[in-house]
Amino acid sequence: MPPITTSAVLLRTYDYSETSRIYRFYTERHGLLGVMAKGIRGRSAKGSASLATFVTGHLTVYVKPERDLHTMKDFEVVNGRGRMGTHMLRFGGASAVGEVVSAHTDREPNSELFETLERTLDRLESAPPDVLAAVSLSSLWQVVGALGFSPELGVCVLCGTALDHEEVGRFDFPAGGMRCAACAADGAGPRIGPQARRTLGGLVDGRDDGPVTFARRHLSILSDFIAYHVASRPLKSLQFLGDLLPPDEVEPS
Ligand SMILES: [Zn+2]
Repeated sequence: MPPITTSAVLLRTYDYSETSRIYRFYTERHGLLGVMAKGIRGRSAKGSASLATFVTGHLTVYVKPERDLHTMKDFEVVNGRGRMGTHMLRFGGASAVGEVVSAHTDREPNSELFETLERTLDRLESAPPDVLAAVSLSSLWQVVGALGFSPELGVCVLCGTALDHEEVGRFDFPAGGMRCAACAADGAGPRIGPQARRTLGGLVDGRDDGPVTFARRHLSILSDFIAYHVASRPLKSLQFLGDLLPPDEVEPS
């Protein structure tokens, strides 16, 4: 069977033996792909010997149907994203984005997800440090959206009433969105005031050009939403990202 070539983003690398690695890619044509690269370790002087995480390129691979692991023939780097390591939040945000993409259970190719992954990684690599918390949260919400899950923020998920501009409701994780004040009377779920709801809506819509207040609280909402709707296991990278975000009691200057 001849190899196929597809655009691919490297999400994770595992050492397999002295001379081999396993790469986990998200590819444009085949979705998630685990790929064995043989005989490449220990030749870093050649440049192509090892690939940095979050690199995008053209992957040429022998895909075997019904197999979990495929064989890499070649990888041509298109975008190395060499600045991802210049700030912990860039790397932390990108790692979380990569883990969400890896953890979702739908294995069908998703060109919108591929495009969103590319766009959010580029943004994480280049955004100024003071907005990286917002960029990380927004990137994750956009990836979650590309996977087909978006929170309902404008209309109560129980009674269908449009939420008032100044309404204080609560987030209902199983239902995937806001409960109005009347339906939130039982006190379940985190309380969301008008400002928090506006911030959340902005992050979901990709508005990430300012500092975000209460970033850790927003990550907690995002993490619980992901746990209910996207991933069937806890994601370590979200916890790691939480440790990198500014503590909530400190207001951004
Ligand atoms: Zn309601």
